[in-house]
Order: sequence, then structure tokens, then C-alpha cells
Amino acid sequence: MMNQRNQDLSEKLVPWAPAQMTFSDYMSTALPAEKLDRSGPQSFFGLTMLDLEKFIQHHGKEKYRAQQLYKWVYEKKVTDFDLMSNLSKSFRDELKSLFTFELPKVLTHLKSVDGTQKFLFDMGDGQSVEAVLIPSDDRMTLCISSEIGCNMACRFCFTGKQKLKRRLRPEEIVGQFLQSQALLPEGWRITNIVFMGMGEPLDNPESVFKTIEILSNDWGINFSRRKITVSTSGIVPEMWRIAASKTRLAVSLNGYSDESRSKIMPINKRWDLLELLNECRKYNQQTKDLVTFEYVLLKGITDQISHAKELYNITRGIGCKINIIPFNEHPGSEFARPDDVTIAAFQQELMRLGAHVLLRRTMGRDIFAACGQLTSAYKEHPGQMDISNSALGGKHVTDSRRRELGLR
Ligand code: SAH
Ligand code: SF4
Repeated sequence: MMNQRNQDLSEKLVPWAPAQMTFSDYMSTALPAEKLDRSGPQSFFGLTMLDLEKFIQHHGKEKYRAQQLYKWVYEKKVTDFDLMSNLSKSFRDELKSLFTFELPKVLTHLKSVDGTQKFLFDMGDGQSVEAVLIPSDDRMTLCISSEIGCNMACRFCFTGKQKLKRRLRPEEIVGQFLQSQALLPEGWRITNIVFMGMGEPLDNPESVFKTIEILSNDWGINFSRRKITVSTSGIVPEMWRIAASKTRLAVSLNGYSDESRSKIMPINKRWDLLELLNECRKYNQQTKDLVTFEYVLLKGITDQISHAKELYNITRGIGCKINIIPFNEHPGSEFARPDDVTIAAFQQELMRLGAHVLLRRTMGRDIFAACGQLTSAYKEHPGQMDISNSALGGKHVTDSRRRELGLR
């Protein structure tokens, strides 16, 4: 039986209203050329094509020069302006004083017995963030971070235990991708990107959507938007941007009712299930993409058969798939992972009801790289810092190593 609250929810969901802003409106929020000029040398990797075009035109040059620059840097991997033979000497000198090609340094690189790899990046101000590479039969998924720490304070999440230290800049997110890709063996290619590392992407939308622009530009990295997933805990007023960016939406549901969700995700008190699921429905109707609902199974708290039924009821009618994530334990966590029989029974109940359901395999446990285990405070688990099996042999990625790896 559906409870009254959930009954209300499925009845009140209203159809899609037009998005407040189109994607081109959003794109016109690129950095103004004057700001580019005044702020001194800045990272090239944080510039969208639109930023670069504005800047170039501001300097009296043709717009298409921006495409040439993107091509040199991202396709030919040339970051020495003197080698950019199709640009004039004076323009090259000007560019030299304006742009740097610094990327976050890789502090450690760990490999799990199951093939998962974890990178710890130095963010320069004594802070660090992690990214995780998860290989599977047909894909190589990179899970990246958008913030150092997170203010959403979900009770089951290790990142949530560290308050937000700061939001990452676009070059720091693009940098996680470029550095991780550069450290892969010859012929390996990252095929999918998920914003499921540290931080809440929609708490840092300017950087996250600029990053998506930079990653997907076809003169540059040319990464398909369809292979990028943005996961949110449910900052409802910002969710339209995921549809506008033409990437995929994942929502951390984790509760089967307002009461159960509010207990573990404080954000539910700000935007409740009615508002959140309504927005998910709009996304699905507008984009025709399935929404992925993530649901963490906490022993005795969210793992009962009755909870599976409620979960099915509140998501019914929204084109979606449900991704069950058995809780990954971390130091000091008050929750436990259910046993395998309970996990299987929960999955089967959802399938019996007709839900499209996936059970996420836990990867990278031995290197502390599983979902929700990422931390910038790596001193908290120093035992994990054995990097003897790393391709880097424990060294920082120096500039010369970057050159060897083809990132000049
Ligand atoms: N802030 C975003 C993205 C990062 S969290 C969000 O919350 O969606 C990525 C996923 O990891 C979320 O679905 C979250 O519910 C899940 N997660 C967090 N801690 C976990 C843990 N200890 N075990 C399993 N999944 C966890
Ligand atoms: Fe932040 Fe996501 Fe962790 Fe919640 S689950 S604290 S939103 S990173």
C-alpha cells in the first residue's frame, strides 16, 4: 500500500513548464573580455571557446583564431606558443603574458586489485581532491570532483563530513580529466565522465557547466555530452541547467519518503520530494532521457522490502532507472552495509514491480576509492597511501614527466 504522502506526491506531479533559460542564454554568461584582460595570467584550461573568442576579438584579432588555439592545445597537445606557427610573432608574445598551462599536480596514484585507479590532486593551496577511474567491459569511467568538501552534510557520506573548503575552478576540474587521461597506458581512453566525486556539482554550477563546455567543444577535447553525467543531491532551482547542457542527470534519492530522506539528507528540508521529483519529471519530459535515481542501501534504514515498494511508488511515472548502491563503510560511519541476501531481495522486489534497476558493484574498496569514500583529508587514512604499484612510482607528476606522457 502506498502511504498517503507518497500518494499525494504521484498525484501532484505537474507537467513540464518551459525552462527559464535556454542553453544559448546560459552560454552568454561567458567571462567578459575585460575581465580576461585585467586579471593577469590565467589558466588556458579554464576558458570556454566563447571566453577565448571574446578575448581574441577584444584584441582586434579574428574570431577563428580561438579555434586555432584550441586545436594546438587540445588536439596537437602543444602549449609552447612559439610552436604555434599559424599565429603572428607579436600575437604569440601577447598570449604568453596572458595564459598559463598549469594543471593540478598528481600527488598520488593508486591502483586497486579490481582495476580501479584513484588520483589525488594537489589544488595548490594546501588542499587536495580525488578522482577515480573505473574500468568495465565496455567503458572507462572517470569520476571527478567539483568541490573540496561539501556543505550538504548527507549523514552517510564521507565528503559530507568535511565542510566545504572551497569550490573548484573550471581548470581544476578539466585538469582532473587531462591529468588522469595522461597517466593512462597508451591506447586507453576515458569514455565516460561522472560528476560523482567530492562535492555537490550544483553548488558550483558556474564552474561545472563551464567545464562541460570546455570538455565537449569539438575544436578541443571533443568529449560527448551524452557521456557526461551530473549527479546532484537535489538543488532543485539549478537542475534545469543539466537539461540545458545536454548531459545526463543522476539524482541521489536515498530515501523512500520525505521522512526517511530528511533524516539522512538535510537538503530534503529545503527542497522536498514533491519539488524534486517534479523537476525530475520535467527533465525526463523535456530531454526524453531517463533520470538515474541513486539509492544508497543502509542496513536496517533504507533496505527493507516495504522501502522498495515505496521507492517504486514515488518514482513511478517518471522515465527513470534506479541505481542501487550498497553503502560503503568509512571511518567513523554510523551506518552499515546490508548483507548480500538483503541487497538481492531489495533489487528483486524492484524488478518484480517493473522498475528498471541496476545494482552498482562496489569498486576500489582496497584503495578507499568507492562511492562516498573520497576525502581531501588523506591523512585520515594514511594506510591507503601505498603507491608502490603506481605507474608514477610515487613521484609527483613533474613537467618533464608530463612531456613524456605527451602533455607538453
Ligand atoms: N554530491 C553529488 C555527487 C557526489 S556523491 C550527489 O550527492 O549526488 C555521489 C553518490 O555517492 C551519491 O549518489 C551519494 O548518495 C553516494 N554516496 C555517498 N556516500 C556514500 C557511501 N558511503 N556509500 C555509498 N554511496 C555513497
Ligand atoms: Fe555532498 Fe553528495 Fe556527499 Fe551529500 S552525498 S554530502 S551532496 S558529496
